[in-house]
Amino acid sequence: MTDKKRIDELVELLKKYNYQYYVLDNPTVTDQEYDALLHELIQLEEKHPDLVRDDSPTKRVGSKILDKFEKVTHDQSMLSLSNAFNVEELRDFDEKIKKHIDHPLYIVELKIDGLAGSIKYTNQQLVLGATRGNGVVGENITENIKTIRSLPLKIDYKDPLEVRGEVFMSNKAFKKANDARLENGKSKFMNPRNAASGSVRQLDSKKASKRNLDMFIYSIVNPLEHGVNTQSEALEFAKKLGFKVNPNTKTCNDIDEVINYISVYEEKRSDLSYDIDGIVIKVNDIRLYDKIGYTAKSPKWAIAYKFPAEEVVTKINSITFQVGRTGQITPVANLNPVIVQGSRVARATLHNADYIQGKDIREGDFVVIKKAGDIIPEVVRVLINRREEGLNPFEMIDRCPICHTELVRKDSEADHYCVNPHCDRKKIEGIIHFASRRAMNIEGLGNRIIELFYNEGIITKIDDIYHLEDHKEELYLKEGFGKKSIKKLLTAIENSKDNELDKLLFGLGIRHVGEKVSRLLAQEFKTIERLKKVDFERLIVIDEIGEIIAKSVFRYFNDDKNNALINALKDAGVNTTYHVEIKESDTFKDKRFVLTGALENYKRKDAKELIETRGGRVTGSVSSKTDYVVCGTDAGSKLEKAKNLGITILDEEAFTELIKGD
Ligand code: NAD
Repeated sequence: MTDKKRIDELVELLKKYNYQYYVLDNPTVTDQEYDALLHELIQLEEKHPDLVRDDSPTKRVGSKILDKFEKVTHDQSMLSLSNAFNVEELRDFDEKIKKHIDHPLYIVELKIDGLAGSIKYTNQQLVLGATRGNGVVGENITENIKTIRSLPLKIDYKDPLEVRGEVFMSNKAFKKANDARLENGKSKFMNPRNAASGSVRQLDSKKASKRNLDMFIYSIVNPLEHGVNTQSEALEFAKKLGFKVNPNTKTCNDIDEVINYISVYEEKRSDLSYDIDGIVIKVNDIRLYDKIGYTAKSPKWAIAYKFPAEEVVTKINSITFQVGRTGQITPVANLNPVIVQGSRVARATLHNADYIQGKDIREGDFVVIKKAGDIIPEVVRVLINRREEGLNPFEMIDRCPICHTELVRKDSEADHYCVNPHCDRKKIEGIIHFASRRAMNIEGLGNRIIELFYNEGIITKIDDIYHLEDHKEELYLKEGFGKKSIKKLLTAIENSKDNELDKLLFGLGIRHVGEKVSRLLAQEFKTIERLKKVDFERLIVIDEIGEIIAKSVFRYFNDDKNNALINALKDAGVNTTYHVEIKESDTFKDKRFVLTGALENYKRKDAKELIETRGGRVTGSVSSKTDYVVCGTDAGSKLEKAKNLGITILDEEAFTELIKGD
């Protein structure tokens, strides 16, 4: 496609999205998708200044305004803000400012996610409330604005005054508004911003009043006329007059201080009672504003840093099914790859058939995904209005995708299971689990190698691992296996024989027995022989062991096949006793870690546990309080931020050293 064609396409698309967002308060794409398209358009326009269209959304603020309101022409345009999406863009902004001022002092404020409003006072009385509209002309929403309880109707200031700020809805008010809409059979507001925008542009101010709107004031129009010379003075001035001013502001001596402030609020963001979508950075000295200047759409003396996307839209290309070691079938969405919070995501779990049917997720759908608990991506919702025609509703498979045995679903459970004990996939997954880091921790025996050995008949059951030595000559002849790596693998297998009983118990994959219960059982019974003889009553009296676990353990040790496996492991020299109590240490006491990127030898969960059992804490985002950033491959913005804040960065090797040092 030619650049001209793409520019035309982007202009039309963005105009449509602007209309849906600003006029209908009903966006059909996420802000991140919108921002990405706008960014693409800006870049194309910079490349081809001659192709810039007069109606380009890069030249305009907002969108059309609603006819149902009286129009208000602003004395001073209400502009938007240009955006920065990473630290580099902030530094570019700083460089540009420094062309005008040697040592700029900045003020940083939270970017409240609502809509801009302008309020006029004459003879001390509130006389006009207006929306930003297209920046030049807005809508008269005075009656609705007056329902905002924190906004004074009368001020103790004689001169005419115009203030501007953000009308928003707190999370609590948003929930209340949505509950009420659901009760009345209406669709929910997508987010607090859309809810605030819809509510303030209600024709019936009684309805608007029920929405509990609120407003933070962040600017004074023509401040110099009121003796206000800096933005910090403007906020103070507004506060003194009784306006609600957001307290989370700070003056910063340089851009590094700004970056630090941003990282603090990236973490604190979720603790606030209202939504913010970034941080606004302004030059503090208002007297310099004219010198620094404006573009058609935004001032050059300010910039909005937008937080990275937590939710991202992508398409489900297909839904496939994974078979776990217990036979549990997990549907998985295979996605058009996207970056979520700095890492690449191509698959998301769909949990089970009920989950998919509950959300009506279909192959070919556009969906919003986010990282659940920071690690496994999850599908949050389907964008129904982007669904193409002809997509079939999801249907759960009724046979195992590997061995084709009919699947079983117990009445009380949401999951389907393959119950064939000979299912290849279950067996492979069982061996993978046994060798995994959290179980027997056999380095070099990863998923790929196990699958290969299984398919070649070298390891087809767990105890075969301990006879790999017999295949040494055969392995030497294999492509991709050096003598050295085979020796390393055999040593790792040999070393695993000395593991404590709890690791072995966990590795056996007894249903409902995770790491914690494995440890409990090992501590309580000390040898596997004693466990083999244990009865249900003896198990159930142990704290934290309930009926389900007790039954499962009892059943496991009363199965001949399982006992044969245990005997085979014992014969091969695997330790089946427990003698050392695991001691927790406090080497990392009060230390904060952030994990980013993919680590080769540790799953996130393992790395987290290694840190936490040593008294450390793992947090989700980098701030000045972070002590270490552990960085794997494909690390994203967190690494960048850590560098900027001068935080100690550990690669995987250094992390291992640190742990070993303990
Ligand atoms: P913006 O929201 O990116 O930034 C400008 C606005 O920030 C100001 O007008 C003001 O209302 C607000 N603001 C909040 N706190 C502030 C503070 N302390 N100081 C100054 N201003 C503050 O710009 P915009 O033009 O209002 O909206 C554009 C954005 O809206 C896009 O980047 C996109 O994220 C979103 N959008 C989304 C869609 C969609 O379809 N999803 C469509 C159009 C726009």
